[in-house]
Amino acid sequence: MPKFDLKTIIFMSMLLTFMLSMLLAITRGHHKEVNGPGYWAVGNLVIGLGMVLVLMQLDATKMVFLPGMALIGAGLSLFINGIQAFIGRKPDHRIPVVVFVLLAIVDAYFMLTQHDVRSAVVLGAIVFAAIFLYCARLTFSRDEGVVGNLYWIASSLYLLLAILMIGRAAYATHVDIAVFDSFAAWPVNAYTFMLGAVSQFFISSLFVLMLSYKLAQNLESIATIDGLTGVLNRRGLEDAALKMQDICKRINLSMAVLLIDIDHFKKVNDQYGHLCGDDVLRHLAKVIAAILRSSDVLGRYGGEEFCVFLPNTTESDAIGLAERIRSGIEESPLKINKASIKTTVSIGVADSVRAGYDFKGLVATADSAMYSAKNSGRNRVMSYTQITRDTKLEL
Ligand code: GH3
Ligand code: MG
Ligand code: MG
Repeated sequence: MPKFDLKTIIFMSMLLTFMLSMLLAITRGHHKEVNGPGYWAVGNLVIGLGMVLVLMQLDATKMVFLPGMALIGAGLSLFINGIQAFIGRKPDHRIPVVVFVLLAIVDAYFMLTQHDVRSAVVLGAIVFAAIFLYCARLTFSRDEGVVGNLYWIASSLYLLLAILMIGRAAYATHVDIAVFDSFAAWPVNAYTFMLGAVSQFFISSLFVLMLSYKLAQNLESIATIDGLTGVLNRRGLEDAALKMQDICKRINLSMAVLLIDIDHFKKVNDQYGHLCGDDVLRHLAKVIAAILRSSDVLGRYGGEEFCVFLPNTTESDAIGLAERIRSGIEESPLKINKASIKTTVSIGVADSVRAGYDFKGLVATADSAMYSAKNSGRNRVMSYTQITRDTKLEL
């Protein structure tokens, strides 16, 4: 193995760590809505400071109390907090403090009072291994699309670092005691720092990349989610319907669509005001969503019109569901300010067997069924088959 100069390695690592800290701090400043980068920025800063302390003590003839290593441990633990915040958990701020105190006690007790450097090195490595194992666990198997792959890489790297630390601890238990005379003289220190630092840069860069994917996903969801009700907007609905259509067409399943229009909604606005009208829209979105299955797709098609796409559903099944939605809405008035706002809906139903799979064709057919429901008195469900049969009968 090549012989590395420990001082140069730590010096370079320190500079890069400070640089990464700055990069993450800038990212944090620009995107306050995503949690995590702030912790990683401070984590790298603390690791960098720890490296400065290690560098300052490197030329000591005897290995002395190394608060630098305790700081590096605390910095790495701040990465745990960052990951917790990034994945939506509450960061546990006790972890960095506990790690710092633990490492400081190990170093102070074994090096200063017991002069047992071997135990300090072994225990220190075990603490670091525990930090890395916990990071690996936190990032392991998070299924979040493209970001999921990056988690997988980060998790593997953390696992590798944990194994490295366990190896260091195991090696230190039986290596000749003379190697502990000087921190710089034991080649394992150089390898540990080098591999540790390289992985740390890689992981920090992965987190920056994950952040950019997450921001892109947020933008995507802003573009496809209706701001008022939280269900899909027209664009999101169209995207989801196209995907459903592809699958249903390929395996020859029928799909159905419901078009739901609130009856006399203008009166609600006139009587209670537009803001209450908005509350009614939000309420109805919730009532409808609660009745649907997870594979069904709900969106706001227009002002006070909702649209539902149902995979693997025939017209008669869809009529049953539409009837449950209709009665569910009728029976769940919105209660605000002592008033109880009762609304009803008219629902048009169509399916791919009669109207084809095309998004526009399906919606247009459900739309004519819905208008027919309006014309026959509102608060009812009408299907495409019913209206064509009725027109035939009229002829
Ligand atoms: P019907 O459908 O039974 O024929 O009667 P309607 O009163 O619901 O008639 P129409 O569908 O033509 O009217 C839609 C009304 O919905 C008009 C508009 O004021 C209201 N509306 C549309 N979007 C919103 C919204 O985002 N918030 C509120 N509060 N009202 C909205
Ligand atoms: Mg309407
Ligand atoms: Mg209406």
